[in-house]
Amino acid sequence: MALILDGKRVRDDILNELKPRVSRCFTVGGRAPGLAVVLVGNDPASEIYVRNKVKACEELGFHSVKVAPPDTVSTQDLLGVVGQLNRDPKVDGILVQMPLPKQVDARRILDSISPEKDADGFHPINVGRLVANLPAPRACTPAGVMELLRRSNVSIEGKRAVVIGRSDIVGKPMALLLLHANATVTVCHSKTPDLAAVSREADILVAAIGRPAFVRKDFIKPGAVVVDVGINRVAERNEAMRIFFTDEAKMEEFDRKHSLLVGDVHPLEVGEASAYTPVPGGVGPLTIAMLMANTVALAEARLGL
Ligand code: NDP
Repeated sequence: MALILDGKRVRDDILNELKPRVSRCFTVGGRAPGLAVVLVGNDPASEIYVRNKVKACEELGFHSVKVAPPDTVSTQDLLGVVGQLNRDPKVDGILVQMPLPKQVDARRILDSISPEKDADGFHPINVGRLVANLPAPRACTPAGVMELLRRSNVSIEGKRAVVIGRSDIVGKPMALLLLHANATVTVCHSKTPDLAAVSREADILVAAIGRPAFVRKDFIKPGAVVVDVGINRVAERNEAMRIFFTDEAKMEEFDRKHSLLVGDVHPLEVGEASAYTPVPGGVGPLTIAMLMANTVALAEARLGL
């Protein structure tokens, strides 16, 4: 029976461990860590993500700022918003929720966030520091995966790791973090031939693709640890049926909710893994925990703690 790697438990542990550090910012520095979230327009998924981030800030007693420009905002105006937050002494971390509307130059916006306030770790200076294995805020989702593996006693050193996906926010930083932990890392993408055979070499297989139930049984070496980063909403009954045709409870859930969240790994085909992260409840909960951890670290640095 494969072990389920429980992201909610690890998230709670991480958040609990942050509490004394937040208190220390108060007592020594005279203020709470501050996180500013910029949400442009009203994309429903982004609104949910931002609401959850603001809620986590409140639970930890952070100073939280939400700025919500209209979706007609120009690059210039958004640069102005970020510039103001860069100068705000109560703000330690800034996050601009992606995606941004088409007329906005997203790269320019991300690059304009001060590297010292880059809560997401996307600024090129912090990406460079990641490549060089120097301290800096790390991209939250891959950093969360590393915490989950570490706290679940999954050993990484000397292992073969395969990462499917090479995005700037998940695949690439994930590969670098595994490399720094002394895994032998292969990065795959949409042009990789015979993906299943390459994946089957992995002791640790990370899927960050954005395609529901894409990784099947033949991708997984028996005994591998499977990390499913994907979060895909399946709203077509036929597609849900294709994935869950043997799982009546899931199909009932689909009929009740009219959609299901499915990872990039087929949820009914991980049986031969030694451990895996479920969707939901695996990697997802860790992303916000790591955002909070990055913000506390940025606040400590600014307060000279
Ligand atoms: P992107 O779309 O930016 O990147 C997807 C990657 O998967 C690309 O590198 C792409 O290759 C590769 N890919 C796509 N199709 C295939 C294929 N058929 N075979 C092999 N590789 C393929 O996605 P993200 O990295 O942003 O996100 C990936 C998943 O993780 C999504 O489901 C997303 O929702 C989820 N996610 C979850 C988070 C969490 O908190 N748990 C946070 C962020 C993302 P190529 O480069 O060649 O196009």
